[in-house]
Amino acid sequence: MSEKITIALAGNPNAGKTTLFNALTGSRQHVGNYPGVTVEKKEGVYLQGDRRIHIVDLPGTYSLTAYSVEEVVARDFLLLQRPDAVINIVDAANLERNLYLSCQFLEMGTPLVLALNMMDVARDRGVVIDPEKIASLLGIPVVPIVARQNKNTAQLMTEAVALAGRWKDWRPRQLSYGDDIDGAILRMEALITARGFLADRYPSRWLAVKYLEGDNPVIAEGRTRDPETSALLEAETAGVTGHLLRTMDTYPEAVIADHRYGFIKSLVKQAVTRQKPPETLYASDRIDRVLTHRLGGPLIMVGVLYALYMFTFKASELPVTWCTSGFEWLGTVVDGALPDGQLKSLLVSGIIDGVGGVLGFVPLIVCMFLGLSFLEDSGYLARVAFMMDRIFRMFGLHGSSVMAYIVSGGIAGGCAVPGVMATRTMRSPKERMATLLTAPFMSCGAKVPVIALLTGAFFASDQATFLLVLTLLAWLVSLLVAKLLRVTVLRGEPTPFVMELPPYRLPTLKGLVIHTGERTWQYIRKAGTIILGFSIVLWAMMTFPGLPADIDNGFAAERQEIQRQGGETMARRLLALDAARAEAALQNSAAGRIGRMLEKVSWLAGFDWRMNIALLGGVAAKEIIISTLSTVYSLGEVGTDQGALSETLARSPGWNPVLAMSFIVFIMFYSPCAATLMCIVREAGSWRWGLFSLTFNTMFAFVLAIIVYRVGGML
Ligand code: GDP
Ligand code: MG
Repeated sequence: MSEKITIALAGNPNAGKTTLFNALTGSRQHVGNYPGVTVEKKEGVYLQGDRRIHIVDLPGTYSLTAYSVEEVVARDFLLLQRPDAVINIVDAANLERNLYLSCQFLEMGTPLVLALNMMDVARDRGVVIDPEKIASLLGIPVVPIVARQNKNTAQLMTEAVALAGRWKDWRPRQLSYGDDIDGAILRMEALITARGFLADRYPSRWLAVKYLEGDNPVIAEGRTRDPETSALLEAETAGVTGHLLRTMDTYPEAVIADHRYGFIKSLVKQAVTRQKPPETLYASDRIDRVLTHRLGGPLIMVGVLYALYMFTFKASELPVTWCTSGFEWLGTVVDGALPDGQLKSLLVSGIIDGVGGVLGFVPLIVCMFLGLSFLEDSGYLARVAFMMDRIFRMFGLHGSSVMAYIVSGGIAGGCAVPGVMATRTMRSPKERMATLLTAPFMSCGAKVPVIALLTGAFFASDQATFLLVLTLLAWLVSLLVAKLLRVTVLRGEPTPFVMELPPYRLPTLKGLVIHTGERTWQYIRKAGTIILGFSIVLWAMMTFPGLPADIDNGFAAERQEIQRQGGETMARRLLALDAARAEAALQNSAAGRIGRMLEKVSWLAGFDWRMNIALLGGVAAKEIIISTLSTVYSLGEVGTDQGALSETLARSPGWNPVLAMSFIVFIMFYSPCAATLMCIVREAGSWRWGLFSLTFNTMFAFVLAIIVYRVGGML
């Protein structure tokens, strides 16, 4: 019993794959509702007694054609890795639609176990399913489960492992697609087998069907590997296609799909009975009548956002104060305990102020992620996408772009990296590019604390309203830029698209805690690694090379002079002198020089050299903006009584609400962080788009910031 078994989980999006995967492997990972998150291959280990079974979570797909990246990923894994068994998880409450994919697995010949999930929902809707009947009709094991309650999953695994042991080679199921196509398949299959066409990779009948379906990746592969046979198969396909067009005005692909649906329909007719007529409105539909109402829906949506921000800021207000004063206290303690010098400056100005500045916002992040997870788990976020679909079309995007925006922080809090990756599910390349280039404009979880800090310092009266306005501004700007791209570099027709609406569900406490915990932990981990690293690098850049000897000696002489004069103002004058010295040193440092160089342009938007240093750090990661600001503004203050950063900024000369606003606008829209840029390059397939994002966004943000600064200054 030591052989290694691999079992793949496959199914439609929202069938409960992630839930089952978590229940089986106990691994902590995100259980979300939007497509794209599961696109990465997730693996885990299931323990059956002392046996370790390798589980792979495939991306959710509706089909195994080659329309989206997910479909190709899932299909290639099955065909090329040949897992020992596949668990096909289906939503029992939407059996017909889900079985379309199952049908394709059967045709491929994978050793399949059908997991009928959401049996609880099906029961509530009065749908009675007979698993044994399905099992006997399909000739595969069928196990009803409730993944969310971990019900019957052990039995599911027993069946899957047993199947893996007994099913050594693949046995493709033969569906009938009508005389014309069946005949063609037989001829093509014979040809494929005789010539060993792609025999090392695909089952022969499956290949024939793919040629008939006009599956581009497979045909392209055939053309390179064996052009001659491929040409014969293409000729056969062209023959059937011509015949079908003449006789029935349709394509082989459509005929094949029709027959699959017919197969499913008859299966469902025999194995499923409904106790309630299907016209009755389910609770979800009734809720949707209100929440997605043409006029009321968007209003409720804005209200929900506002409530989320109120909750985030009100609930986190006190804890954030505690946290930031905790780090301040730590800074004072270390400051008092260590002798003056480089080490103390590194610890206090570099590490405690830098990392502490970021960690101080953890309570805010927790509240924000909690609210967001609730909206997501309940199914409401999918409604937001649905409602925005109509508006998005006007801007050359569509509903699935909404999800990418939301994942990137469209509701504040999020990250553009998964946001950019979420665009993988989009079928149209142009809409996809427009989406992935504009998604980083959203207020990700790293920008929100920066915005919160600045609004706290300058617009303290109403942070929640302020963030709501900024969020709407981010959407507006993204849409306008997307439109701009779609009528220029990414011109093209829109593609049709149907939105899926999962039913509403009451989120479980456990789910909320896990999701919030994971996201928060990512934030904290980033503070402890990337941000710590950059804080130290930036501290060094801000500390070295220090003052030239003659100037330093000048300060020392002046210090002696003050001490010699003595008097009651001596202490104050010494502090002022130290601050002046620190400022001169910072100006002369590597970072200070770069910041001053940029000042030649940045003054247009009101940014001085210190702000430039922070913004430069922000290209590495947006959190660095806070940590750098803390360092920049604390360097000159070592030894003095320092307040929280927001207070320091509020009383710094030169800062005012107009400048703060210009700074916020620039931060919202300038270059994406390094991680996002890398992701854009990877997803867009060319470093040019990364470069485009960096320069275009920065210039665009700069123009906006100048407008805000100049117009605001006049008012
Ligand atoms: P995936 O897209 O296939 O990974 O689906 P998820 O695992 O993310 O599940 C989608 C939603 O269905 C989540 O809100 C789950 O909590 C919920 N869910 C999963 N399994 C069940 C189940 O057996 N019963 C009910 N009522 N809900 C479930
Ligand atoms: Mg999932």
